[in-house]
Amino acid sequence: MFGPKFLVATLLLLSSSTVAFLIPSDQASLADQHRSVQNSRDDLSKIILKSPLLSLHKALVEVESISSYELAVGKLLVSTLEAHNFAVTTQQVNDVNNASLKRWNIYATPDSSQYPSSSSKKQPHPKVILTSHIDTVPPYIPYSLSRPKSSDSREDILISGRGTVDAKACVAAMVQATLSLLASPKTEFNPSDVALLFVVGEETRGDGMNHFSDSKLYHHTNSNLKAVIFGEPTELKLASGHKGITMAHIKAHGKAAHSGYPWLGQSATSMILPALYVLDKLGDLLPEEGGLPRSKEFGNSTVNVGYISAGVAANVVPEFAEAKVSFRLAGGTTESVKKIILNAISGADPQGLLDVDIYQGYAPVPLDTDVDGFDSIVVNYGTDVPNLKVADGVKRYLYGPGSILVAHGKDEGLTVGALEQAVEDYQKLIKHALSL
Ligand SMILES: [Zn+2]
Repeated sequence: MFGPKFLVATLLLLSSSTVAFLIPSDQASLADQHRSVQNSRDDLSKIILKSPLLSLHKALVEVESISSYELAVGKLLVSTLEAHNFAVTTQQVNDVNNASLKRWNIYATPDSSQYPSSSSKKQPHPKVILTSHIDTVPPYIPYSLSRPKSSDSREDILISGRGTVDAKACVAAMVQATLSLLASPKTEFNPSDVALLFVVGEETRGDGMNHFSDSKLYHHTNSNLKAVIFGEPTELKLASGHKGITMAHIKAHGKAAHSGYPWLGQSATSMILPALYVLDKLGDLLPEEGGLPRSKEFGNSTVNVGYISAGVAANVVPEFAEAKVSFRLAGGTTESVKKIILNAISGADPQGLLDVDIYQGYAPVPLDTDVDGFDSIVVNYGTDVPNLKVADGVKRYLYGPGSILVAHGKDEGLTVGALEQAVEDYQKLIKHALSL
């Protein structure tokens, strides 16, 4: 039974698996491999630590700051800015879901007394505000470094983790760009012409920026404002605009019954489905046929039926159903879009049984691109831009390193090169804004 064939097969099996781990020289080579991976990790860490920009970015990313829980990263940023002689003001932004949460917007201006070129001792009235957000989407993904196999270049080192792109890259690059300009002997500008604003809650309700926009601090200091530079991932390009947004929350109240006798109840699912079906198609429907607006700049409006919930079990007629739908707007006003949505729903719900709640949001946002040396891009995501009310004529720029395509995903990351380029570009944008 145990002939030579069996023996050969057994030896082959052993040599390909177990035996490999028993040979001392192979053990040594594994240890070598481990050491070389460790060495290359140490090398990458050294590169990061040598650079004030990259180490600030690392520190910011290593502090988890999912929307509503931004206090720790806020504290880190305050101490960093104060260490660089900024005058820092924090604004508590109450959280609608948890009043006990502490979370701050951070507003910082270079301390004029530190800079001999400045004569102003009063509250600065900046000409330009650089702003981005310090919250991130969940889940937290730890900071990590890697080198692409195809490149040994420092610029190509990939920095990954939640917030590395959206938007802690912008935050770190804005701080570093401002510091570089202040330190440059060649730049002639009044330090009190520049302010930094880092807000909470951009990823959820925009409550941080709305709070700042309505605050005395902003109202008392914005009389000289010429431009606001917003930081979001735009692949190092200047965004010429972004789509608007409207959302609908639809609820159906039916009556529960045994599924064998559905005529004894009223299915909330059956009530809501026709409305969801027509809404889902609104982006494809021509505007003259009742569809959503289109435009040359932004293309078609799009619809996402992003959330549906209904019923309790397969054998129960559902008593309740609800859905949340978002509309990315390529044109029109929020008022006109609201009418289109309500019309579509009433066609599907002629008896008006559904509860419809429309959050009007904002229309498409045009942005300024009048700066030489930048490519432009149109983006489909929302930002804090419409949440900051600015006077007519104040320019709004949207620029940042990294791509939105990875921003909320598990592979969020950007290269050292992109992050460093952003510092150069923010300096260009600041200089341009100060020349307006
Ligand atoms: Zn963002």
